[in-house]
Amino acid sequence: MHRFLFFISCLIGLLACTPKRVTRFATSQDIWRVVDSPVDSSSQRGPRIVSFRPDTYGTYRDYIPDTSNLDHYPVREIRINVHFMNTTDSASNYYGKEAREFVYGWLLSANKDLKENNQSWLPYGDPLPLIPTRLKLSLTTHPDYPEAGGVYSHFDNELFYYIHRGRNQNLYDTRVFEKYGLQRDSVLNIFVMPHHPDSIASPTYAANGVGVAVGGGIKIAGLYETGQPAWGYRGILNHEVGHVYSLTHSWLNDGCPDTPSGKNPCWNRSKDSPCDTAATNNVMEYNALQNSWTPCQIGKVRQRMASEDFRYRKYIARKWCRLAEHKTITIQDSVTWRGAKDLEGNLIIAEGGYLRVESRISMPPGSTITIRPGGRLILGPTARLHNACGKTWEGIIVEGVGRRMGQIVMEGKPVIEQVRNPIPEPTKT
Ligand SMILES: [Zn+2]
Repeated sequence: MHRFLFFISCLIGLLACTPKRVTRFATSQDIWRVVDSPVDSSSQRGPRIVSFRPDTYGTYRDYIPDTSNLDHYPVREIRINVHFMNTTDSASNYYGKEAREFVYGWLLSANKDLKENNQSWLPYGDPLPLIPTRLKLSLTTHPDYPEAGGVYSHFDNELFYYIHRGRNQNLYDTRVFEKYGLQRDSVLNIFVMPHHPDSIASPTYAANGVGVAVGGGIKIAGLYETGQPAWGYRGILNHEVGHVYSLTHSWLNDGCPDTPSGKNPCWNRSKDSPCDTAATNNVMEYNALQNSWTPCQIGKVRQRMASEDFRYRKYIARKWCRLAEHKTITIQDSVTWRGAKDLEGNLIIAEGGYLRVESRISMPPGSTITIRPGGRLILGPTARLHNACGKTWEGIIVEGVGRRMGQIVMEGKPVIEQVRNPIPEPTKT
């Protein structure tokens, strides 16, 4: 009899029998607690205390951009400005328009290498995967000096020079940063300095392009004296930026199994042995190009940038502080995130999509995670969903059709915080 009535009512209004699509913020009913993590016994109450260091979210491998899901690895923009040190007679360096044009050309070529990366010459005959770094140098204007466009000239007969070697070496002297640095709490200051005239006069001092990363800034010398075009120095710039983000020279113990080991015997490739096969173009070596980043080097830099504790994270443009709808990530297949991420858009787990999170994920302010019917979000015991700007995000939305709802699986007690629509605790019975 009931079936008959159902049939009749379906005939009356077909639409009424189509299962309704439901969209709502997740409740405790949407959670399937399948595993209790060993660090989180079921007797524990209240928020879990995060006792592991952020650097322990995965390994560098978890930060190497996956070329089939590049949008999961947002481009990290390093905010920079450039200072040209000069003598008071303005004879020792570029300045004004010439300096600005030099910087534009310099950044264009440095960013091209960062965007495209270049095939590693080593191991010879067995090239490494070519991975885009997803890094970018971004010239940053000071609000008080908009006309400078982030490029400054300083005329100072005491502090203008750079000495790389010898008794009077001053490469580690940071007084020039203290006197002329701008926005050092959020911008990487790069100083272009001439070699000292006395050094240039010495036959044993090589006054060529050279640099150092020290005290959170960069000094580079030899650009003006050698008179080479700006693109010729893109490698030095990216090399020093690599140092700022903790990369060491590849011939040292750099923790990267894919970088060349041992001292590089070749400045550039040549027809003759050994430099026909032994030359390297790695960014953290000394060589003519310095334009190739190995997957490990990219992973290590990006891991540093994603660490909330890392002191030079402050130079990264805080794109995660504002919701960009067009940066929405849709998970359509099976993905595991072990590395920390600072996302810029919403997150959607599509029908049949599976996302497992084992790390810190910053959701932008006002953003949502939507789990479509048949989609599944697994939060591992070390998962932490939050907002890295101290703002709030909206929460997790589940969608369903009939009994088919998006699912959340929690292992242990992952942390979900700074959320406007938290998942309510289940009522005790
Ligand atoms: Zn170096």
